[in-house]
Amino acid sequence: MRSKERFLVFGAPALGDEEIAEVTASIKSGWLGTGPKVARFENDFRDYKGSRNAVAVSSCTAALHLSAMAAGVEAGDEVITTPMTFCSTVNAIIHAGATPVLADVDPVTMNISPSEIERKITPKTRAILPVHFAGRPCEMDEIMEISKRRKLKVIEDCAHAVETEYKGRKAGLFGDFGCFSFYVTKNMTTGEGGMVVTRDDNDSARIKILALHGLSKDAWKRFGDDGFKHYEVVECGYKYNMMDIQAAIGIHQLKRVETHWLKRRAVWDKYNTAFADLPLTLPAEPARDTRHAYHLYTVLVDEEKAKISRDEFLRRMTAENIGVGVHYMSVPEHPYYREKLGWKPEDYPNAMRIGRKTVSLPLSAGLTDEDVNDVITAVRRSLGA
Ligand SMILES: *Cc1c(COP(=O)(O)O)cnc(C)c1O
Repeated sequence: MRSKERFLVFGAPALGDEEIAEVTASIKSGWLGTGPKVARFENDFRDYKGSRNAVAVSSCTAALHLSAMAAGVEAGDEVITTPMTFCSTVNAIIHAGATPVLADVDPVTMNISPSEIERKITPKTRAILPVHFAGRPCEMDEIMEISKRRKLKVIEDCAHAVETEYKGRKAGLFGDFGCFSFYVTKNMTTGEGGMVVTRDDNDSARIKILALHGLSKDAWKRFGDDGFKHYEVVECGYKYNMMDIQAAIGIHQLKRVETHWLKRRAVWDKYNTAFADLPLTLPAEPARDTRHAYHLYTVLVDEEKAKISRDEFLRRMTAENIGVGVHYMSVPEHPYYREKLGWKPEDYPNAMRIGRKTVSLPLSAGLTDEDVNDVITAVRRSLGA
């Protein structure tokens, strides 16, 4: 018997009737593209974060790319980021024309190490791009101190960090830009989607223009009923806008963000208790005076004590019908970066070690009590406990 009868999809979203009704209303209205619901979602998100601006885009990858451009990052510049992230963090830097430079992570928090950032700064460094890994805030006091002293822009990758706080301030508000993902596995979803919060009005206006072909500011209103308007192309922009159908989902996901956070926290606590005696390194305790977003519950398999490899553990969990993830193989493990940039995993030993041992267990608000118990059973069985 498998621990679970039907396969438990990793990161399945928690959607309700309100999302369905709002999408249906969008379709019935005939207005599918960028319109009033995107504007409402931007307002709601801005209110939730307490940011000065918010611009909805098609993904966090788009958000990072446009933020780098608005930060003035260009060919010849370097941007410092973490090897313990999704490839798109690094790709966005390359898309902006710059060279990504990696600073290794702290072995316990798995977040970029401020002293490593300092070590990697050169005269070409233009920006720092920290990732709040798994929803745990980076050391923002240290990172902001470095950025002020060295006059660097800060772009926060908040793909895991909608609910994250550090010393009473919300993630995304420390840097010049905060970039969020509403991909389907994230804490809140629009299917595909992203958001940039900025503190500078000009940055926000530039991102809006770049996200829609480089059309002049009022282009977003050009489909409305207040008279025909000619548009002007003022930059060579991209097609990175969000649709109303997506925003329709996001508006209601945002309303659920706190109840979903509480659910994930309860699952996190249950896992901590259930796995305390196993040959696994459990996630570090959230730091004092911070709020963890509980986006990923990642364990490190202690291969010697467990007597099985990480990959064997992944296989056994899948055989038990439990969907698992790996966040992440460190970025230098991928051939593109090794060949193009000459990166070696060994040069970032903490990220390499984590990436080769880590497994993410299901942690979404859609999990039932039964699902959580099945995950626990599967983990114990897979480890022969
Ligand atoms: C998911 C993710 C992204 C990319 O988000 P998309 O919305 O899918 O483009 C970027 N960075 C991190 C850390 C992520 O987890």
